[in-house]
Amino acid sequence: MKISELFTREKTVFSFEVFPPKRNNPIETIYKTLDELQDLRPDFISVTYGASGSIMDNLTCEIASAIKNRYGIISAAHLTCVNSTKEEVSEVLRQLSINGVENILALRGDFIPDVPPKDDFRHASELITFIKDSDYKFGISGACYPEGHLDSPNQIEDIKNLKKKVDAGAEHLISQLFFDNNMFYDFLEKTRIAGIDVPIEAGIMPVTNKKQIERMVSLCGASLPSKFTKMMSKYENRPEAMRDAGIAYAVNQIVDLISHGVDGIHLYTMNNPYVARRINDSIRNLL
Ligand code: FAD
Repeated sequence: MKISELFTREKTVFSFEVFPPKRNNPIETIYKTLDELQDLRPDFISVTYGASGSIMDNLTCEIASAIKNRYGIISAAHLTCVNSTKEEVSEVLRQLSINGVENILALRGDFIPDVPPKDDFRHASELITFIKDSDYKFGISGACYPEGHLDSPNQIEDIKNLKKKVDAGAEHLISQLFFDNNMFYDFLEKTRIAGIDVPIEAGIMPVTNKKQIERMVSLCGASLPSKFTKMMSKYENRPEAMRDAGIAYAVNQIVDLISHGVDGIHLYTMNNPYVARRINDSIRNLL
């Protein structure tokens, strides 16, 4: 089933993101995580793709296939393009198709320091066009940035580029993480004015330790409201309190987002079923 079809129901979509195990960790670790996440019956689970673009480095296809075929949950495979050739992308599409994966989150990906990008794709929109022109009928999603993408000169340019991505065939968008809902509402309004009419899911990352958030924020540039930074300073040396405060913050964000009628919530689970369960238990009846 295509992810975009989920949004025709009278229900807020609730989805998860997981990542393949890091190098040297056995593949079984992700199946332990999925064994627990499956009980929460998310509407779909997406699986990230390594930035290198190398098929050999990527377990994404295998995991996305297992989510669908072993756990019976709709899956989406992330796919980056800037470090891949058209031949390499074609091979990934073929593998996803023969393994029954029906949805792709099409991404440009990040540039790897000291590694020149390949020349075949410059933007996610080009990957989307390439997938649309292929022999396969994947549901296609794209990424969006409530505070603007870091490479973009300003938010308006970024939203104009987002429109190109949707015009190319993205049927659904998932947002970068954010901690200030007002920024997301402002972004949503601008996208609708720009004529972007596909469902947009809000990306929520529960913060459970200070190091994790410092790393994420340096990568994506999300701004931190003062109530959030106060929470981090107060609990940074008390891991359990920090985790509980992070869960409570995410739950508050989600309650407010659902009350505002957002299309969906995409939870960056960080492969942590305990945290996903606590959040699920707090918001399930609101969906
Ligand atoms: P694009 O849509 O190509 O945008 C990148 C920049 O180019 C933006 O500044 C945009 O404004 C500009 N741009 C876009 N189109 C045009 C155009 N036609 N002309 C001029 N400028 C243009 N990375 C991974 O490596 N693996 C993952 O699994 C992964 N999953 C992600 C999931 C989500 C939900 C999100 C939000 C991000 C994810 N990323 C992942 C990170 C992503 O790869 C980076 O943010 C990357 O820098 C941009 O990818 P994009 O698809 O948004 O790029």
